[in-house]
Amino acid sequence: MQLKFKFLPQDDGHCGWYETLPPPPPSTPLKGDVKADWVVLGAGLSGLAAARRLAELHPNASIALVDARRVGFGASGRNSGFMVDLPHDLTKHDYTGDRSADLMQIRLNRAAIDYVRKIVKAHGIDCDWREQGKLHGAVEPRGEQALENFAKGLSALGEPYTVLDARKMKATTGTDFYRSGVHAPGCVLVQPAALVRGLGATLPENVRLYEDTVVREIVVGQPHTLTTDRGQIKTPRLILANNAYAAQFGQLGLKGLMLPIYTYGSLTRQLSPTELATLGGDESWGLIPADPMGTTVRRLASGRICIRNSFTYNPDVNASASTLERVHASHRRSYERRFPMLPGVEFEYTWGGALCLSRNGGAPFGEIAPAVYSAVGCNGLGLTRGTMGGMLIAEYASGIDSELLQILLRQPKPVANPPEPLLGIGVRSTLMWKEWQAGIEL
Ligand SMILES: Cc1cc2nc3c(=O)[nH]c(=O)nc-3n(C[C@H](O)[C@H](O)[C@H](O)COP(=O)(O)OP(=O)(O)OC[C@H]3O[C@@H](n4cnc5c(N)ncnc54)[C@H](O)[C@@H]3O)c2cc1C
Repeated sequence: MQLKFKFLPQDDGHCGWYETLPPPPPSTPLKGDVKADWVVLGAGLSGLAAARRLAELHPNASIALVDARRVGFGASGRNSGFMVDLPHDLTKHDYTGDRSADLMQIRLNRAAIDYVRKIVKAHGIDCDWREQGKLHGAVEPRGEQALENFAKGLSALGEPYTVLDARKMKATTGTDFYRSGVHAPGCVLVQPAALVRGLGATLPENVRLYEDTVVREIVVGQPHTLTTDRGQIKTPRLILANNAYAAQFGQLGLKGLMLPIYTYGSLTRQLSPTELATLGGDESWGLIPADPMGTTVRRLASGRICIRNSFTYNPDVNASASTLERVHASHRRSYERRFPMLPGVEFEYTWGGALCLSRNGGAPFGEIAPAVYSAVGCNGLGLTRGTMGGMLIAEYASGIDSELLQILLRQPKPVANPPEPLLGIGVRSTLMWKEWQAGIEL
């Protein structure tokens, strides 16, 4: 089977998380022909976790981890930095779903946080790691209703939370935009690009990281052959951790299951001490909108504000300049609604990043062709679900069983998509309708 990559990682705007870091040391692209016992394609959160776990399980094996760009440049370094421990179903108005499934998801998410926490501490990765939980904020009655349902869901799960009224929301965030909120303590906030860059820089010695190495074609066989611009890698076992870019492979069935959906972030310039005093509130917080189509906001201890909203369906896995312009304007409106006391604070960066969703939140986890394993489809929750998917695909492919693996294997498989053009029409109109419904939560 021959897999040709039509859609490759693009620039997708300027990511503030990545561009505010110091430049990375020079990369080591693949040159010439090599062999490896394992190849992991994609050095985002899923691929980094898969490669590390493989190295832990097989200390004498050679593992090649390949990415078209630098570590941290892709979606894994572009997210809002919420390591979410609780259920986070983007298709549900209150983020929660079936109780027993939610309890299992919490176990997986917390195991992922524990795994990353150990690495961050052991290697002293400087990624602004903050165990401060997340706020959910409501702006209007519909949002308040969703928060009530979310709180009820947490009570049913036995999870702690605190309800905040408008006054307490202002005391934390500095803005009187939110009518109420719920604080859930288990979420960790990070600087995502710094985290993934740190994970890449501290991989075990038997992992060879090839950055700036675009894979153009894969021939699935025995061995599998990955062709890049300057060489080939042959391997008996391949793990796909290329997330949304895997959704182009009809031959592996992924095209019919997964949806490449983009979401977008913007980062302001650094606020001056006077502006920070005018804003008030805590020096760092992270807020998830009561409506999943609303606006995520983070205030960073570095004195910047990060805004995230808008979803688009991008089967070509690319954020066009015109979409970025439209999103920038939407971010501007959302910023101005929340922070009228700080007019004229411009965004220095606006970017997009690819999510890989399925219609029912399932992931095509497992062996999808002989000795080809899939760790794609973390459904918008890369920091925990992506990490866990990567760790567990390494165990699965190594024939190692565990309780966590069994939990993951029991999760629903993705349901099939309708064919194009029905799919595109359906997804685009659903996104537009839901965005319109989100109203001022946006
Ligand atoms: C704006 C935004 C906000 C978000 N907020 C959050 C959040 O707060 N919390 C959370 O958990 N998640 C969040 N997400 C989702 C999260 O970022 C993704 O789920 C996560 O990055 C997926 O990780 P991954 O490793 O599976 O895939 P990716 O990070 O997409 O990694 C795939 C890698 O494959 C590489 N690749 C693709 N094709 C090729 C090729 N042909 N050759 C070589 N390499 C290739 C790419 O360069 C890329 O690095 C957000 C996403 C965005 C865009």
